[in-house]
Amino acid sequence: MRNGKRGANKSKSNGAQSEEMSNDALHELFLDELADIYNAEKQLTKALPKMAKAAQSQELKEAFETHLEETENQISRLEQATKALGETLKRKKCKGMEGLLEEGKEMMEEKDDSSALDAALIASAQKVEHYEIASYGTLCNWAEMMGHREALELLKQNLAEEKATDEKLTEIAESTANQQAHQSQ
Ligand code: FE
Ligand code: FE
Repeated sequence: MRNGKRGANKSKSNGAQSEEMSNDALHELFLDELADIYNAEKQLTKALPKMAKAAQSQELKEAFETHLEETENQISRLEQATKALGETLKRKKCKGMEGLLEEGKEMMEEKDDSSALDAALIASAQKVEHYEIASYGTLCNWAEMMGHREALELLKQNLAEEKATDEKLTEIAESTANQQAHQSQ
């Protein structure tokens, strides 16, 4: 019993004792961070429909709707990644996302009647994307270090979607700015 599965399924490393200890600590941190982004994505699925509804331009509305679908897939990938590790997701509240969404909501209310509403929505959405990019970048790095290959592939897909969304939002911001500049001529 004492020498049972407990230690064995924690880490595949056969390295030195100290290396195994630090792998355990990193594995724990990895699971914390997975739980954090999982909760962040869940919070985002509640905010994106409101952002889509508020968006003035059709293009921005569609971008938010598309990203909502992607976000739902990202949540499934996080569940798959955790399963692939033989772990379960911890319960955690992502305070970072909570704060970003709170700020976004404030901005949305303040700019409700403004022609800059879409610009405000894009600004807060890009802050969210950058937060996620940072999280997935870190998670990919750790997954690679620990040799979690299946999790790594799934996390890479999430990272790529966040980056593409960020770029898409930049494009929309630029085309909107161009349009507005054109209108005011
Ligand atoms: Fe996401
Ligand atoms: Fe995202």
